[in-house]
Amino acid sequence: MDEEKRQQFLEEYMKMNDAMARPGMFDRNEVVFHLSNLCKLLRVCKGVTEFYINPSMEKAGRGERLCDVDYNGPCRIIHRIRIVTKSMAIVIGTLYAKEEEPEHSPEEMYKMDLVLRSILSFVSMNRLLGAIEQMAFNDDTGYPNIRSFTRRLEKLNIEGTLHQFNTALLNLRHFSLVNEDVGRQAGDIVMRNYCRMIEAVVGEGGILCRMGGDNFLAIFRKENTESFLEIMRGIPIAYDPNSQRRIMVSAGTGVFVIPEGFEYVNQGSVMDKLIPANRAARMQDKEDLIVFYDEKVTKAFDKTKRIQMQFPIALEKNEFHVFYQPKVNVYTGKIVGAEALCRWIKDDRIIPPVEFIPILETTTEICLLDFYMLDKVCKDIKRWLDEGREVVKVSVNLSRKHLLDVDLFEHILSIINQNGTPHEYIEIELTETTTDVEFRDLKRVVAGLQHEGISTSVDDFGMGYSSLNLIREIPWNVLKIDKCFLPVDVKNTESVTSMMYKHVLSMAKDIGLECITEGVETREQLELLRENECNTAQGFLFDKPLPTAEFEKKLGTSYVID
Ligand code: C2E
Ligand code: MG
Ligand code: MG
Repeated sequence: MDEEKRQQFLEEYMKMNDAMARPGMFDRNEVVFHLSNLCKLLRVCKGVTEFYINPSMEKAGRGERLCDVDYNGPCRIIHRIRIVTKSMAIVIGTLYAKEEEPEHSPEEMYKMDLVLRSILSFVSMNRLLGAIEQMAFNDDTGYPNIRSFTRRLEKLNIEGTLHQFNTALLNLRHFSLVNEDVGRQAGDIVMRNYCRMIEAVVGEGGILCRMGGDNFLAIFRKENTESFLEIMRGIPIAYDPNSQRRIMVSAGTGVFVIPEGFEYVNQGSVMDKLIPANRAARMQDKEDLIVFYDEKVTKAFDKTKRIQMQFPIALEKNEFHVFYQPKVNVYTGKIVGAEALCRWIKDDRIIPPVEFIPILETTTEICLLDFYMLDKVCKDIKRWLDEGREVVKVSVNLSRKHLLDVDLFEHILSIINQNGTPHEYIEIELTETTTDVEFRDLKRVVAGLQHEGISTSVDDFGMGYSSLNLIREIPWNVLKIDKCFLPVDVKNTESVTSMMYKHVLSMAKDIGLECITEGVETREQLELLRENECNTAQGFLFDKPLPTAEFEKKLGTSYVID
């Protein structure tokens, strides 16, 4: 090597080291530029680096391979280094010279070694930084995490493009049930495949991040909103490559539309909107489970939090009361049963269940309330029997949330038995179910109760996605037909509601189910029940839900109906 080349080498080498001295922010082209100049000086025609995160990956040949200086013609290996880092990562560098190139001098070999070591330490540091970044911005399963979400928001905000996006907080619906149904491993595949569908519609600059469990955060382009929401509403997801089996997955989703001129301060600016909107979406028991953030959502969220905080204290202070609404024989007017309905009496104000039950149903708090109600009803029945009253069967509502409780049946039974209440006086009302898993649990619970002589009813039949076929599969005793089946205009016997009401009643009778119609408000409606041979009615025509003391006075009496 002559003096001029030595000088050149030194300059290039320093420049390359300079360029590499800024880990994370280096300019790759700059490094490669100096490296190829060095290679020319050292008569190297090709350089390859390999990186393996650990020895077993090296063994399996699963790593990264970089080749920035390349030559396709015949060449031979002239130098090779393998380095194992402290963290057991492995970097290998190989340099090649053209076949016809004369032997390299010891000085050239020494310099080559120097360059290669610099490159390898640079590669290993960068790769390790990458691995650290991977850990910092991704969770254990490889999904980008909430830090990635924040980083992306900040980036878009700096770029001034944030308003081109919407954000969403989504919670996969019934995912614990999906896991139970298809197994944990297949459940993971379902989640991954569902996420892939979402990732495909977030658009350029968008991202999907996992918050933990089955909660995800998304940033997606405004023009993709419809496709995004379609996936939220539910799509079939394949999980078994060997079969065509698919499972429906949907997500309760709160969406925040980022307005133009939105003032982004920190992650909180967006999360403050997403959390209440998501909460509202999860509370709705409807098929469409998407809620867009607005002021109302925040107010509702505040109310939710207030109720959740007050609930345990209210329960302890016995602020919840049982009101009884009579069930009446449509021919004789006699009280043949009652439904226990919950009322929260707070500072002399009666709070109706619609204001707190849906909120309690978002967690398992509702179970505490339902068992409390069941206990009170059992005690009342026991007392009425002891007082020699003419007692009727009382139905108690149980939220669907209970189906998550594997010991539900034993719980119900122990409350009834502890109070010494004869089983024939208790009926359990459950609403219909839409997913197969709940269906299976429902069947087990209903059959168990039936075996114990405790009757069960399907509440609000007609409100959900009920089918009589579904109902045939479970040994219910009573079908409670929702008021939505009851035509307001009874005279119009040709109306669709009238026809459906007739059919439901006759089919229920075929299956051997007892029927009761809820929400009977007028004499005409009562007449319709009689015409269709529905023997029992519940509704304001007779009485609203009554306080215990008022109801017990009516036990054994009849309403005048003609
Ligand atoms: P539900 O079980 O279907 O109860 C019947 C509802 O219809 C009651 O509303 C009752 O007051 C109302 N109703 C009765 N007759 C008429 C009528 O002629 N016209 C009209 N428009 N409405 C009538 P309430 O008491 O406000 O309860 C609403 C819902 O809250 C209940 O619907 C039930 O799903 C839930 N709920 C009430 N108490 C409990 C409870 O202790 N546990 C659970 N899990 N849910 C409860
Ligand atoms: Mg009910
Ligand atoms: Mg009902």
